[in-house]
Amino acid sequence: MSQPFIVTPGSSICLADYDANYTGHYRKKGETKSPLKKLQKRLGKLQELLYAESQRALLIILQGMDTCGKDGTIRGVMSGINVQGCDVVNFKVPSAREAAHDFLWRAHRVVPGKGTIGIFNRSHYEDVLVARVHNLVPEKVWALRYQQINNFEKMLVENGTVILKFFLHISKDEQRTRLEARLSNPAKHWKITESDIRERAYWNDYMQAYEAVFNTCSTEWAPWHIIPANKKWYRNLVITERVVETLKKLDMKYPEPTFDISQIAIEE
Ligand code: AMP
Ligand code: MG
Repeated sequence: MSQPFIVTPGSSICLADYDANYTGHYRKKGETKSPLKKLQKRLGKLQELLYAESQRALLIILQGMDTCGKDGTIRGVMSGINVQGCDVVNFKVPSAREAAHDFLWRAHRVVPGKGTIGIFNRSHYEDVLVARVHNLVPEKVWALRYQQINNFEKMLVENGTVILKFFLHISKDEQRTRLEARLSNPAKHWKITESDIRERAYWNDYMQAYEAVFNTCSTEWAPWHIIPANKKWYRNLVITERVVETLKKLDMKYPEPTFDISQIAIEE
């Protein structure tokens, strides 16, 4: 059975209904190598067009549980694009300065400018995820944030930013496998923190918090996608496909020259 990726606005989804192992009609990594390469090439060309046109920006938001593959997605999906037109922003525990402002302040300061792609590795959604799960602020504060996020994203879209939001959906079993792999490989120890282990205990609370995000903040203007992410190769293929499709739909054009090209002669 095929599994939808986009969360229809206003729906009431349950993450348990989404199979993190889903790989469509592909059975193994080898089958996705050639389509992925083609998509990456296409993405490179579309990014150049986005940069040349400089009318729109693309904001890609990546969220998911620890080890879900946010870093790997950035490497795998963005390998074909020019680093000049792309910024990656990591959202960590807010600094004192960030915490002194409203929760959207730090996100707004780093949204991509026209002609560029911005990738948020975690995002303003942490303020309705970790903040909700650990009661970092009272419910009456986080409860207002869903609407505030929708309004913020709508304003960005109305001003020329296209927003794609991806939840990298791994199963709890897959997370255990990945955490164990990190623990048993000294070259991966730097990637593991005590908080990764601690947070795992709150898995169900996080699933609930994510469901609230999808049911409230998947909008016509900035939809959420639930990406089956147990298989890294399928995750990269689907996300690259979504990004390429989105950029294609913008129907971008190279800008006209600002002078008469036929009158130009290059001196010997
Ligand atoms: P990592 O992505 O593994 O580098 O970890 C970043 C950590 O920062 C995660 O544990 C996030 O939950 C945490 N974090 C990000 N944004 C916030 C926030 N707004 N409030 C509290 N913790 C946050
Ligand atoms: Mg981590």
